[in-house]
Formats: sequence, structure tokens, C-alpha cells
Amino acid sequence: MLVVMEAHATEEQIRAVCQRIESAGMKAHPIPGAARTAIGITGNNGAVDVGTLEGMSGVVECIPVSKPFKLVSRELKQENSVVSIPTPSGTVQIGGNSVAVVAGPCAIETREQALAIAAGIADSGVKLFRGGAYKPRTSPYSFQGLGEEGLKILNEVRERYGFGIVTEAVDHESLDLVEKYADVIQIGARNMQNFSLLKRAGRAKRPVLLKRGLSATLDEFLMAAEYVMSEGNYQVILCERGVRTFADHSRNTLDLTVVPAVKRLSHLPIMVDPSHGTGRRNKVLPLSRAAVAVGADGILVEVHNNPDQALSDGMQSILPSEFLQLTEEVRQIAAVLHRSLN
Ligand code: PEP
Ligand code: MN
Repeated sequence: MLVVMEAHATEEQIRAVCQRIESAGMKAHPIPGAARTAIGITGNNGAVDVGTLEGMSGVVECIPVSKPFKLVSRELKQENSVVSIPTPSGTVQIGGNSVAVVAGPCAIETREQALAIAAGIADSGVKLFRGGAYKPRTSPYSFQGLGEEGLKILNEVRERYGFGIVTEAVDHESLDLVEKYADVIQIGARNMQNFSLLKRAGRAKRPVLLKRGLSATLDEFLMAAEYVMSEGNYQVILCERGVRTFADHSRNTLDLTVVPAVKRLSHLPIMVDPSHGTGRRNKVLPLSRAAVAVGADGILVEVHNNPDQALSDGMQSILPSEFLQLTEEVRQIAAVLHRSLN
């Protein structure tokens, strides 16, 4: 259920409606929009008593949300949501008029490696740096990440180069630490349906970058975002990173059709990861161009100073020099769509 407030409803009227909802044992989610505030209701078992809410001052109407996802839905909020990420170099907005770029290695391997890559991409003007301190690996014998030590290195990258930091949490313990050190909490593809982790991320005070699961349908993807939002964290960025298909010419099949599909159903921003989406270095540039052309709100690209020696995902990592070329090309494509790069 969705309570639509009048355009000029006061804070007090909105608060009173929220209190009425909460006192009936449900959860109220006031979502301000450009024209008016809508209040999403979750946690109701069965029908909501619409009569009492509709009679309250400042309320225009109560409308049922037809989709299984409520807070994620465009029915709740017509205009695009913009997630703001404060960084030492200024605020990065994802979902607005600019296209955000996140770049860095798959994993933080050493301090020297992270700082060298950061130095290599600093000239591009991008403001968000990525790198995993906790790596979900297929084999338990593969490099698992440096843990908190990796987060400290990322902190140094932030201080030296002014980047905002995006890094993955794989469980509750790592999420506690990632929340402390990073600017954006990444939830990886393998954890997209780890519901207890999604709820924990929903209680975090940082934006969440939620990657699509390896075989997740669009509904499942949006329901995962709903988990985060239902706990009160509305700062969610979706990320398409390829799904598993019969195709064997690339690691995954990058599903760019999901971008306009998400835009139709949801107000949330969506980024594209052409690195995991293809798994091949030579496909990262063309798919980055395509991602921006199809309307993605950002791209996430793996960059390494020595890809052949990388401890993870070297085959899909590009050199800093190639990354600079990539940002120049996508900047021009974004400009055609009247968007800038940040
Ligand atoms: C990553 O970003 O390095 C990563 C592990 O991504 P995904 O969860 O999409 O595989
Ligand atoms: Mn990776």
C-alpha cells in the first residue's frame, strides 16, 4: 500500500501518518519525490485499513502497489532516485544526469599495487575507486583477500588520491568493517540472495551497490533490493554484471537489456560491470561503450597495473592507460545523451 500525500503536506502531517501506520504494527517508509511525498507501507499481514488513513489531513489517496516489490517500484516514486556519495573530491551522484565510473583492481593485493593503480587512474578524473578486501572465490585455495589490512590500504588510497571507496562485504563481520572504512558497501553476485546479509546492509548507514546474481531474474534482483530498502536504507544502486548462459565465448553474458527493463519498473539507479560481464580484457571497452549508450547510470571497471600477475580476475583487467582511453570514449558517448562523466 502507498499513501500519497498532498504536494504541500507539512512535515507534521507526514509524521502523523507514519505514526498511525507504525502504531498499527506496520512499517512506514516516507519517500520524498519532486512533486509530493509518498509513504510506502510494509510489514502488513493482509489488508491495510485504508479508511482511517485516507481521512487524515494531508493525505490525497491510498493506492495498492500491484508489484511484489514495493519500495523499489516506480509506483512509489515516479522520478529517478539519485544516490549521493560524499568523497574527499566532492559528491558523486549516481542516477542523475551524470554517468559514474568506478575503477580499480578486483582485489587489493598489496599496498604498492593499490597505490600504483590509484595513481594510474587518478588522471582520468573519476572519483570512485574499487578493490576487494574480502573476495568470494570459487576455490577455497584461491586468494581470499587481505581482510581488514586491505581496508586500511583502501583508506590510504582515499586519503592520498581523494577517491570514494567501493568495496565488498561477504558476511556480517566484514560488513561491520566495510561500513566503517568504505563509502559504498558492495554486495556481490554470489550474495544477492543472502537475505540476512541484505537485511544487515539495509541497516547500514552507507549506500549499497547490489550486484545481480549469476542466474537471477529481474524480479529476484529487484526483490533483493527490496530487502535492503525494507530495513530503511534507500540508498541502493543496482549493478548488472552478466548472467550465466550457454554462451562460452565470454565468462558471462552481459545482459544490457536489463537496464531499460529496470528503468521501467524501478526508480533505482543501475550501473553495468563489463569486466565480470565478459571476463575478457578485449571486450571491456566495447561493452563499456554499449552500457553507457543503453542508459546505464555508471560503469564499474577492473583495472590492474600488471594484469598477467593479478591474484584475481587478471584476464578481465585492463591497464591504467587503457582505462584512460576508455573514459575518453565513454565521455563522448555520454555527451550524446546529454550526460557528463563523474
Ligand atoms: C567483484 O566485483 O570483484 C566481484 C566479485 O563481482 P561479482 O560479485 O559480480 O562476481
Ligand atoms: Mn573481480
